[in-house]
Amino acid sequence: MSDEAKVIIIQDRIKMARNRIIAGGILFFLGAALATFAFVLLRGAVWVVGGIGVFLFVFGLILSLYYVNERSILLVQLKGRETKMMTCRNCGKPVPQGKYTVCPFCGSALIAPLASVEVVDEEASGAKKSSS
Ligand SMILES: [Zn+2]
Repeated sequence: MSDEAKVIIIQDRIKMARNRIIAGGILFFLGAALATFAFVLLRGAVWVVGGIGVFLFVFGLILSLYYVNERSILLVQLKGRETKMMTCRNCGKPVPQGKYTVCPFCGSALIAPLASVEVVDEEASGAKKSSS
């Protein structure tokens, strides 16, 4: 599997973890509200509702904490992969190091000491065209 594919998979899993943290947070507050409603306002008359509330509260809390941890692990993995990336000097996009001699995004040379002369020439002719 290529490095880019791995980075995309990790980014996908980070998004998924974030969604579950949010879902866990919603369950957490919903459960807390339900338990408060059942035990405080109804004074435990419908203890089943309160029980569900407590369950959702605990479940949501565990879910959130689990995916907060998962997300931080994934972020470290992503950072480890991104250090193997270099930034294109022309368009500024991340490019896997040592894999390309030409930027896959804009096509400019990544490692070419003499190419700068050509770039200057192109810019000069481009300026002439735009002025006419
Ligand atoms: Zn580029």
